[in-house]
Amino acid sequence: MAKVYTLAVIGGGASGLMGAVRASELLGGANVILLEAASRVGKKLLMTGNGRCNLTNRYVSPEHYHGDTALAAPILSAYSPEKILAYFQHLGLLCREQTEGRFYPYSMQASTVLNLLRARLHDFGGTELCEFAVQTIRRTANGYTILSKEYMPVCARYILLCTGGMAQAGTESGYPLLHQLKHTVTPLKPALAPILVRDTKRLRPLKGVRAQAVVSLRRGSRTLKQTRGEVQFTDRGLSGICIFELSRDAASGDILSLDLVPDYEMPELYKITGGKLDGVLHKALIQACPFQKCKDFCFTVDHTEDFKHAQVTAGGVPLAQLDGTCGSRRSPGAWLCGEILNVDGDCGGYNLHWAWSSALCAVQAVNEEAGR
Ligand SMILES: Cc1cc2nc3c(=O)[nH]c(=O)nc-3n(C[C@H](O)[C@H](O)[C@H](O)COP(=O)(O)OP(=O)(O)OC[C@H]3O[C@@H](n4cnc5c(N)ncnc54)[C@H](O)[C@@H]3O)c2cc1C
Repeated sequence: MAKVYTLAVIGGGASGLMGAVRASELLGGANVILLEAASRVGKKLLMTGNGRCNLTNRYVSPEHYHGDTALAAPILSAYSPEKILAYFQHLGLLCREQTEGRFYPYSMQASTVLNLLRARLHDFGGTELCEFAVQTIRRTANGYTILSKEYMPVCARYILLCTGGMAQAGTESGYPLLHQLKHTVTPLKPALAPILVRDTKRLRPLKGVRAQAVVSLRRGSRTLKQTRGEVQFTDRGLSGICIFELSRDAASGDILSLDLVPDYEMPELYKITGGKLDGVLHKALIQACPFQKCKDFCFTVDHTEDFKHAQVTAGGVPLAQLDGTCGSRRSPGAWLCGEILNVDGDCGGYNLHWAWSSALCAVQAVNEEAGR
């Protein structure tokens, strides 16, 4: 007779790895299996924070999230940044705080986080099975049977669906599985993405230039949002964290106005420079931007980049379809975690925080359920 695991975790990204580690610790590793479609777990984790993994933020609160924030709030408050950092420390990971409350591994290497999670999964006796692209999940009398093309079916009493979103995702997805679990998704759109602009001719000479700026997103006479930080010019648009933060609200025809000298008012700037920018800006910007425009250097939005260039997916399974532990109200014994849910965060460690905290919350509930 085939082995029946207590928990099968589907998807070996941030939430799946955390879920599998914690479940192996609580339930005993022999009862837990992690199924991953790709040849390795945690591929996206290695890309996070420019390879440094901004894993949580001191300022986690519902205000930094979008989607079903009211329903996510109790999970965020139960699994605070302190709790996440304490659990990582319990696993052996030291972290350090950088600017704006962002936490990174002490090594400043995403690979440290991934290697540590894998090592603990191994230490706790959990099993990792790669190239297992889940195609069908069947509910049985005692739990679930999970099918892929290549492998024998896997049976488990409970499942944790952690298949992530569409942003820079691999070829496999968990969205078709949702239907089998009787769940729906809200419309999906890329978030935290570069913004493409119409006037690309002006942009071309600026390709590769980086500038510190205050960026305003304007629609008609209204300023919708303002951010500050490093703008990166590409041949088709603008990128950088301060642009990502505007991408959710930007629509075709909006104006991105860059204040390239935000620390000085115009009269003072004129007094100091005599109306010349050669001692102030990058040389390519001096060519592209007349002095009078340096505090209002404008581009017209064409559209936001697609999922291939976005960091996160806005939209997903509504939290109203789950209970307060991320447990499915429609398929008993199934829990859903991470980016597949209708919760996405700002830039700064908020999305990984959601991945860890939703997984820890779910596994706690699985453990209680298994003990009944
Ligand atoms: C370039 C980039 C940088 C980022 N940087 C940060 C950052 O610094 N801080 C931050 O907070 N957030 C960051 N994010 C966002 C963050 O990485 C995600 O929100 C987070 O990884 C989501 O975790 P997850 O477990 O839900 O999904 P993922 O980490 O995407 O994992 C999903 C896993 O499921 C697997 N899978 C999918 N379908 C199947 C299937 N059918 N069968 C089996 N397996 C399947 C996938 O192969 C994947 O391994 C970044 C994202 C990107 C793209």
